[in-house]
Amino acid sequence: MKLLPLLLAAGLLAGCSDGKSGHAAIEPMVYVDTETGKVVQAPPEPTPAVNPDTGKKTLMPGLYCSRCKKWYPSAPLEVAQRNPSSRMCPKHRTPMETKGPVSAP
Ligand SMILES: [Zn+2]
Repeated sequence: MKLLPLLLAAGLLAGCSDGKSGHAAIEPMVYVDTETGKVVQAPPEPTPAVNPDTGKKTLMPGLYCSRCKKWYPSAPLEVAQRNPSSRMCPKHRTPMETKGPVSAP
């Protein structure tokens, strides 16, 4: 069981960052599974996040292209910092959004 300490750490981190609003609902983030390409909604956590379906750390934050109507997994942070075009749609070369429509599972 390697998951438990991770979950505890995530819980502590979430507790620290949440200073004043005690019962504000956590807005789920959109992730894309880099293995299956599936779009998953989950509470914000350090990436790569664990896909609840597979138990593997394959979830990267999703970026939505409104022209493709498609989610793409975002590049790891260090890549995104070095290469801002990694946040662009690979097809349209337009900036992608972190918000967009998610079809219900
Ligand atoms: Zn596109």
